[in-house]
Amino acid sequence: MNLLSGLEQFGITAEAGGKDIFADEERKRVEKEENEVKKAPVVKEYVEKVQPETDFLLTRHIRCTVCEKVFDVKTVKNARVKRLQPDFDLRPRFQFIDTLKYDVYSCPYCGYAAMSRYFEHLTKGQIALIKEAVCANYAPTTLDQPETYSYELAISRYKLALYNAMIKHGKTSEKAYTCLKISWLYRSMADEMPETTDEEKAKKAEIRELQEQFYREAYDGFQKAMAKEDFPMCGMDSHTMDYMLAAIACHFKEFSYASKSVSNIITSSNADRRIKDRALELKEYIITEIKKNAGK
Ligand SMILES: [Zn+2]
Repeated sequence: MNLLSGLEQFGITAEAGGKDIFADEERKRVEKEENEVKKAPVVKEYVEKVQPETDFLLTRHIRCTVCEKVFDVKTVKNARVKRLQPDFDLRPRFQFIDTLKYDVYSCPYCGYAAMSRYFEHLTKGQIALIKEAVCANYAPTTLDQPETYSYELAISRYKLALYNAMIKHGKTSEKAYTCLKISWLYRSMADEMPETTDEEKAKKAEIRELQEQFYREAYDGFQKAMAKEDFPMCGMDSHTMDYMLAAIACHFKEFSYASKSVSNIITSSNADRRIKDRALELKEYIITEIKKNAGK
């Protein structure tokens, strides 16, 4: 499956089907057996009055790092959003809005796109690479910003950011984080999809499959990044990253990796109480699962 399908709308025909996201690193990936999807419970808060997503958004003018034109993006009014309990793997949740949808800046003039935290930071060499491989092929899109972003639109923006990250030889962690966020968006998109008819069920299964594939890319990518990059990584300290990877490892039933990661947190002298408590809880889960699997 071509993970970057959908970029055709931007005029980009990335031969990404055969292109490895982490191609510029040595890839020593051991294909694991297809594992059954284990989903930890998601805590959802009961909300009484739904506020529209537009209440939490504002338009910002951004200058493109590549072509220097100014364009509009929708961004989240951070002070207004209320944080909810995150998912098992720290996927952030907010009341009334999925803020993840709004974290990519995408220049409608030249095709350069990146997550906001990376957008401004390009070397001259990276700008040249992007001009050559992205801008030259890019079909300019409409300048009008929709009031809110659908999951489809948000995911296509992230895929364009991922493609840019591959072209500019971005850090492994940046590519992994982009994959993780794409997977998280597919998760929410699938959660909202109906599954009454066979056609709906098939469509939803397709989205879940993409969710899994990007999740795997993120998991492998972060492990590579951990081996060669320093913390903080993608805004996370090492304990947060260990916890997140342990949770993802549990999803893939890679319990030895998961238990090693939680041990790093539990035995650390500088991890705070909250993350240690979370790690202890996850450890209990891992022990139960290992016993369950041993008994099979
Ligand atoms: Zn631009």
